[in-house]
Amino acid sequence: MKTNVARIPRRWIIPLIVGSILFLVLLLPAEWTNYPQTPSPPHETCRSQLEIGETGESLCPSDSRLLLITPTYERLTRRPDLIKMKNTLGHLSDVLWILIEDGKSIDPYTEEWLREDPVVPFVYLAAETHVQFNRTHRGLDQRNAALDYIRDKKLHGVIYFADDDNAYDLGLFKALRGVRRLSLFDVGGIGRSGVEGPALDKDGAFARWVTSYAPGRRYPVDMAAFAFPSTYLFKNPDIRFKWETHGGQMETAFLTTVEKDPKNIDFIQELIDHVRVFHVKTKPIRTSYPKDWASLRQKQEDAGEGEQIGADAPVVDPVPVGYAQVVNPDQAKKS
Ligand code: UDP
Ligand code: MN
Repeated sequence: MKTNVARIPRRWIIPLIVGSILFLVLLLPAEWTNYPQTPSPPHETCRSQLEIGETGESLCPSDSRLLLITPTYERLTRRPDLIKMKNTLGHLSDVLWILIEDGKSIDPYTEEWLREDPVVPFVYLAAETHVQFNRTHRGLDQRNAALDYIRDKKLHGVIYFADDDNAYDLGLFKALRGVRRLSLFDVGGIGRSGVEGPALDKDGAFARWVTSYAPGRRYPVDMAAFAFPSTYLFKNPDIRFKWETHGGQMETAFLTTVEKDPKNIDFIQELIDHVRVFHVKTKPIRTSYPKDWASLRQKQEDAGEGEQIGADAPVVDPVPVGYAQVVNPDQAKKS
């Protein structure tokens, strides 16, 4: 019996084989991976927040995607800090917020709150701090876990270490979109001068460092003072934070690993002419607190005679809607 294959003219066979091989080599890999072999699409084509897969993989790879790394841990001010940060990031598109819990597992209340109104695409991982060398580096193991995650998922974009307690102007993120090499800039709220980082001359070239803390550092900058493309990570497996680094030297040690040659470092003039990120320390009010803020009212009702949440707060009569009531805390305590 004659098959269809047998009917293909002989002179077509070689072009068909060559064509099939070319198809396999050139076309299929682009389908198999999320990362195109062709140049990344411009930022404008990556607006939808749904372009992040379930596990955070980049479905719409872009050089200007922001990969924001945020270590976080349980404390009194965590929720208000994270609320401010989430609201800020909610204004952005083409961003992935990588939160890493300092703990054995993620915090279910934080996860529920992140999911309930996911204004920003996020992944929430856990990495417990394993202190070595008797040092007190905060957020070290969490940042390393995020770097591993970016390597593992081959996420393309601009890496920025965004601690959960700082204040971020949207202009910061706008400027970070343009980062194509390791880039440095200024951070407010640090030291006696109130700002720390590079200063430029009138031609926009590096002039000197402005710092009032440990000026002997090679790069006297804060963790929030630099950003770099994730491609650096793919080329250099040594880029990670190390426990043996001395206190205060973490940024310098890391930056030296990211880029050996200072000539290859950029300075972002816009973020040096204007301070767009501030180091902040939020202070807790002295009270206990529920981790599950969402069901606080239910807890108060359930508490009855037993544990009272906010029991030391003054109890005041309800006022008709539309009237303001000024409560004198001293009087309220007496009544
Ligand atoms: N952090 C952490 N575990 C800790 C202490 C801090 O994961 O035990 C996180 C914290 O949430 C923040 C970052 O590490 O995102 C830096 O910590 P912190 O703000 O306390 O340090 P500082 O800004 O004063 O250097
Ligand atoms: Mn901080």
